[in-house]
Amino acid sequence: MYLYELFQRKPCVFSLEVFPPKKNGASPESLYPKLKELAKLSPDFISVTYGAGGNAADDSTCKIASYIKHDLGIEALAHLTCVNSGKEQIEQTLRQLHENEIENVLALRGDINPTLPRKNDYQYASELAAAVHASGFNVVGACYPEGHVESENLRQDVENLHHKIDAGATHLITQLFFDNGVFYRFLNMARKAGIQVPIEAGVMPIVSKSQVERTVALSSASLPSAFTKMISKYDHDEQALFDAGIDYAIRQLRDLIEGGADGIHLYAMNRPTVAQKVYEGIRDLL
Ligand code: FAD
Repeated sequence: MYLYELFQRKPCVFSLEVFPPKKNGASPESLYPKLKELAKLSPDFISVTYGAGGNAADDSTCKIASYIKHDLGIEALAHLTCVNSGKEQIEQTLRQLHENEIENVLALRGDINPTLPRKNDYQYASELAAAVHASGFNVVGACYPEGHVESENLRQDVENLHHKIDAGATHLITQLFFDNGVFYRFLNMARKAGIQVPIEAGVMPIVSKSQVERTVALSSASLPSAFTKMISKYDHDEQALFDAGIDYAIRQLRDLIEGGADGIHLYAMNRPTVAQKVYEGIRDLL
C-alpha cells in the first residue's frame, strides 16, 4: 500500500522508526524479536533507516523492511540516501526494494561526511525523490521544524521543500523536536508557503542523560527549559529520569494529536519497552 492512502483514512497516522543493528557483525535478523514487540503497538507503518549515525549503508534496510511487510503484515518505509551513492548503486537498491515488494521510500540526501567519498549524481534529496518516483515508488521526504543546519534560515528551507514535493513526495516526516511550539510555527509557515502534503511530527522519548547529548548533536534540536529542568532535576536518578522522559514524550504527543497533527512518528530507537510505555499513554487518542 502507498502510505499516502493512510492519511485519507485516518485523522492521525501513527508510525515508528527503527535502525538496522549497529554492533559489528550484528545481523538484520537480530532485530526481529524487537520488531515483533513493536508490532503489538499496531503502528500504521514502520520506517527503517539507511546508513544513519555511522551505520553501514547496505541491504539490511531492505531485509528489515521486507520482514516488517511480509512477516509482520505492517507497511514498511525504507529510507534511502544519495550523498555517498551513485546512480548505479541507487538503481540497484531500488531494484532490490522492488523485488521485495517494498512500495514506499523516504528519499534523503544524507549527512555530508568528509571522511566518505561524496557522489554527486543526486545533489539534493529532491533529485533522488524524482528518480525514486520515476521507478514507481511512493516517495516520502524529510523536513526540519527548526530549519536544516545548512539552510540560511527556516523560510528558505521551507521554500526548498517545494522541490521535494514537485519531485513526487506525498508526505513529509519531521526531524525530532522537543518544543511543540516549534512544530506549530513550522507547520503554519509551511502551509502558508503552499506545502499541502501531510506532515508527520517526529518525537523521540529521551530516557537517559547520554541520549540527550547524542541526540542533540545529531539532530540540532533546541531544548526548551521544561526539558532541561527535567534533565537536571533527575540527573542522579536513572529510573526517575526514565519515567520523566516517557512522561514528557507522552505529553508532547498528546498535545500534537489533539492539536490536529496529520501523523506522529515515534523515533523508537529499537527499544520496544520505551515505545510500549509511550504508546500506553496515547493509545486512547489514536
Ligand atoms: P535535502 O532535502 O537535500 O536538504 C539538504 C539541504 O539542502 C537543506 O538545507 C535544504 O534546504 C537545501 N536544499 C534542498 N534543495 C535545494 C535546492 N534545490 N537548492 C538549494 N538548496 C537546497 N540520514 C541518514 O543518513 N539515514 C537515514 O535513514 C536518515 N533518516 C532520516 C529521517 C528523517 C525523518 C529525517 C528528518 C532525517 C533523516 N536523516 C537520515 C538525516 C538527513 O539525511 C540529513 O538531515 C541530511 O543532512 C539532509 O537530508 P535531506 O533529505 O533533508 O536533504
